[in-house]
Amino acid sequence: MLTVSKLNKTYPGGGVEAIRDVSFEVRAGEIICIVGPSGAGKTTLLRCLCGLLERSGGVIELDGDVVDSPPAKMAAVFQDYSRSLMPWFSVERNVTLPLKNKRFSKAEETERVGRALRAVGLDGFESSYPWQLSGGMQQRVAIARAIAYEPEVLVMDEPFASVDAQTRSDLEDLVLDVQESLGTAVLLVTHDIDEAVYLADRVVVLSSRPSRVLDVVDIDLPRPRDQVGTKAAPQFAEYRAHVLKLIRGVRDQRQSRSVENRPSKNRGM
Ligand code: ADP
Ligand code: MG
Repeated sequence: MLTVSKLNKTYPGGGVEAIRDVSFEVRAGEIICIVGPSGAGKTTLLRCLCGLLERSGGVIELDGDVVDSPPAKMAAVFQDYSRSLMPWFSVERNVTLPLKNKRFSKAEETERVGRALRAVGLDGFESSYPWQLSGGMQQRVAIARAIAYEPEVLVMDEPFASVDAQTRSDLEDLVLDVQESLGTAVLLVTHDIDEAVYLADRVVVLSSRPSRVLDVVDIDLPRPRDQVGTKAAPQFAEYRAHVLKLIRGVRDQRQSRSVENRPSKNRGM
């Protein structure tokens, strides 16, 4: 459904090469997690995918159409949800906002907003304001807003990085519920390997900058998944170790490079 072929991105000006020849695909209704070291180019990759950033090379296609601007079939949730919500609008208004240019009837609009708020467990909070809610609840509002227009793909950039561990696992399960009940494909970037393995059908492991795909790991764990059972499964530990080794490989390369480059006391003396 979503295909990324040989994507390249070099920022103009300083010429930072963020992404090199990245290819992978997302099939309808599946959950793909992208993991990679910080500064690798994950956010850059997502911004290209959403049509928010011009790519330097390669092709992105959604249902056969080239993505050059933000596609209507895609919705995004970013890490900094507190800045993405309008503080002076109620929860309901915030979730309704992106539906406004969709020209739904008033009844359809109310129906969709209600469904989205129920899906994230926020029914009853329609008239609250974002500043009255906890961080985890604000992130739920951001997710409700993204799923209200029922996108084919939900793109998320480290969406749970700034919430506590308990809220984080609740929100992970919320993503699983959304995928299961609405059939939305999810493309989620995280630096948390456990989170990636727990959620994903496949994990795309990226190298350090410029980002290349080190491996795409099929996660063959049964669904429905649950925080206790799935994470206790021996297979879970194997996948986790595999991804960790790939990422460690990246780190070790970096370390040995920095050792090589360290000025030697004896050199030139
Ligand atoms: P990640 O999300 O994996 O941490 P980013 O995609 O944010 O990585 O950044 C990848 C690289 O691109 C970094 O070296 C970063 O400094 C650089 N970069 C990000 N945004 C810009 C920009 N607007 N202009 C120039 N360089 C950028
Ligand atoms: Mg990032």
